Amino acid sequence: MTHRRRRGTWLVAGLLGLTLTVPALVAGTPSTTASATATDDTCDPFGDPALDQSVPTAEDVLDLPLGERDVTVEESDTYLQAVSEASPKVVDGVLGTSVDGQPLRYAVVGQERWVQDNGLDRISRELNRLRDPETRPRVAERIIERNPSVLWVAGNIHGDEESGTDASLQVLYELAARTDCTAETILDDAIVVVLPTQNPDGRTADTRRNSYGFDMNRDWFARTQPETDAKVEMLRRLPPQMFIDAHEMGQDNYFFPPNADPVHHEIGETQLDWIYNDYGEAMQDAFDRFDIPYFNGSAYDLLYMGYGDTVPATAFNAAGMTYEKHNGDPTNVRVREQYTAIWSTLMAAGERDADLLREWRSEHVTAYEQGAEGELEPNQLYYEGDDIENPVPDINVRHYFLRTDDPADAEGVQRLVRRLQRIDVDVYRLEQPLSVPDYTAYGQDPENATLPAGTVWIPMAQGQKHWIQAMLGEDSYVPFPYFYDVTAWSGPLLENVPGGRSGAELDPDAVEMEPQPEPEAPETSDPPQLAVWQISEDSSGTVESAGWLRWWLDNRVELEFTDVSAGQIAEDALDDVDVLVVPSGSDAAASEALGAQGRAALTSWVDDGGTLVTLKDSSRLASRLGLTSATYAEPTSDVPGSLFRVQVDPSSPLAEGVGEDTYAMYEYDFVWSTPSEASAPVRFPEEGDSDWFVSGFAEGEEQLHGQSAVVDETVGDGRVVLFGFAPNFRAFTGGTARLLHNAIVGPAPDTEAQTRAAAPQQETTNAASERLVISVRPGATERVEELLGERGASFDVVPSDDAVSYRVDLDGQSSDEHPWAQDVAQDAATLGEQVVAIRLP
Ligand SMILES: [Zn+2]
Repeated sequence: MTHRRRRGTWLVAGLLGLTLTVPALVAGTPSTTASATATDDTCDPFGDPALDQSVPTAEDVLDLPLGERDVTVEESDTYLQAVSEASPKVVDGVLGTSVDGQPLRYAVVGQERWVQDNGLDRISRELNRLRDPETRPRVAERIIERNPSVLWVAGNIHGDEESGTDASLQVLYELAARTDCTAETILDDAIVVVLPTQNPDGRTADTRRNSYGFDMNRDWFARTQPETDAKVEMLRRLPPQMFIDAHEMGQDNYFFPPNADPVHHEIGETQLDWIYNDYGEAMQDAFDRFDIPYFNGSAYDLLYMGYGDTVPATAFNAAGMTYEKHNGDPTNVRVREQYTAIWSTLMAAGERDADLLREWRSEHVTAYEQGAEGELEPNQLYYEGDDIENPVPDINVRHYFLRTDDPADAEGVQRLVRRLQRIDVDVYRLEQPLSVPDYTAYGQDPENATLPAGTVWIPMAQGQKHWIQAMLGEDSYVPFPYFYDVTAWSGPLLENVPGGRSGAELDPDAVEMEPQPEPEAPETSDPPQLAVWQISEDSSGTVESAGWLRWWLDNRVELEFTDVSAGQIAEDALDDVDVLVVPSGSDAAASEALGAQGRAALTSWVDDGGTLVTLKDSSRLASRLGLTSATYAEPTSDVPGSLFRVQVDPSSPLAEGVGEDTYAMYEYDFVWSTPSEASAPVRFPEEGDSDWFVSGFAEGEEQLHGQSAVVDETVGDGRVVLFGFAPNFRAFTGGTARLLHNAIVGPAPDTEAQTRAAAPQQETTNAASERLVISVRPGATERVEELLGERGASFDVVPSDDAVSYRVDLDGQSSDEHPWAQDVAQDAATLGEQVVAIRLP
């Protein structure tokens, strides 16, 4: 297929003039201001509504018209239930509970025969049969004819991006109340699931993240948070053909798809066609008609498998879409534009009738056939020219395997299998040894191997083939060096489970595995007195690192801890503490917060026998306090979140249950080195070492050869363990989290106390992983400096052999929240071959 390359225009219509021309919300008083009527006999999505007065408006129920101000979670729930009670077309329920115990309330709207009684159960059963490629074509066609498609509208996954909630309530009302051709077009052959808020705790607290500090729009494949996990279970129950995830952002104009490159290669062509050519076009028409400024084809890519667009697109073969509205506009404008985008998309879906289910079914069959032939989908660029710098390699993949030879891997294997099963992947266990002529272990060359009985086998010939490749593939093969997030998440590497692939035609003797439970937490016989010190409440990197740590301590390893502050450390709060873990953060901020008294207290606590464990950027604090022999350098490489194989010294206590290597999530982290190899039990392989392997994008990574990944030293009577990277990244890097667990509960190394570094390191600004990075060839530096100069940006310049890297400060904000970071990144992205890497934090 070809995608139409139609770039969104940056329209200049002033927002003030919009009130007369955009579709008015119909809540309260029916609209008389829709500016245009359809010129033919098709149904105008924004025509005058005819309303069933028995369905209450928000004003009737809450005494508040939608759009006047953001509704609270309670108001949203109250109104949703009131609509559900009044209308036989609507049912409601609770799909899960947030970290703080708030319900995640949803509504399903559709024809009575579908939503009432056992209608939804039947649809669930039948659509899941439709997903199964082995369902016979005649049966599949009958299912298509008698079932609706399922369209999802969800908002507010980032708690401080409110308008998706209010707009989806408006959509719910109109679907329930309208008796005209629009609601009929949509509901004629579809049901709509409305989930107004995906993050009730964040909405209540007015924070982006949930109560544990997780960005839940990065959590979709790992499903660590209860909100994510419950939502994905509901998606399995009512599998979507469309999923709208309505956000807000710092930029002025509305964003809807098409997305920016890169697009993950394994996302099926059917759903890309829907997104690019049906829904994208429908929204363009609506926004053009009402002169609402918008853009598309830039800023938001479709690569990382943790989003509310990529996961519905890859795990469910649905049109997964992110919408973004400027957070600085008044509530009524935000709600109206979200409504306009959602409503025009629903209409476009409604017009497809049964074709949606037919094409959806067909994508599953195509995926199965690709898997049976061992074919991977190719990389394509949709906006940035035709040169694929990094094509998907010419390999055949018919099978994946996970090795179970070593009992130490059992937990990781169980977690991976469970994760696959809970997204409808069939997983088997070999009953007999299997000879595999081209067994290609992760990061190794093919060899002739015999896999023992008990090995886990995942055949690619499944309707879920796209998802299997996205989860188990060795690499994401990112086609374009623009990164909205990390570029590596291969499950076996994250869990450090050995495994591999084969392209051969094999006929294994195997049985399907029973559904796997969540692995139990490890037993800890004599747990240490553990404290956590979060350096800052503001920096997003620190808030997240601390949140991942607390969640992991509470839920994964079940270790009790107390939170301490800098002030408490200064007042000798560490006296009864054995181990202090410091999540990633600024050493300068930490030092300032401690003050002279706190710095002295922390230093003497280590000298007297305390164990200090520092994660990622906070490791610089140990250097600043003279508590380590290790020194660090600014990274000159461009690595926007990739997995590096690192070597583990088997004699180190950190190696317990880990083995000789594991995979570190490295992203523009400081590069650590120690005078003695004995101080660094976890290291990046030397140049030429066959262990050298990177999953994900990397340029200039030679800088890491032979450097330290984890430093573990005796200091006085105490110990410091410095992680140069995030060992518990988003709480889904189980392999390196094992190192962290060993650092906390395991014995100290039996080594001499180290000589400390002679002088503290130079002052540094924010770590590169928290900054916008634009790296270009020398020919493009003038243009980049111009782009940054226009915005008055503050940045450091890091030159390397054949590139110059600009590390731009965003005041601790994510690029999403920042007013111009994405603009600059997009302008730089047009520099084509001059671009080495662009990374948005
Ligand atoms: Zn958002």
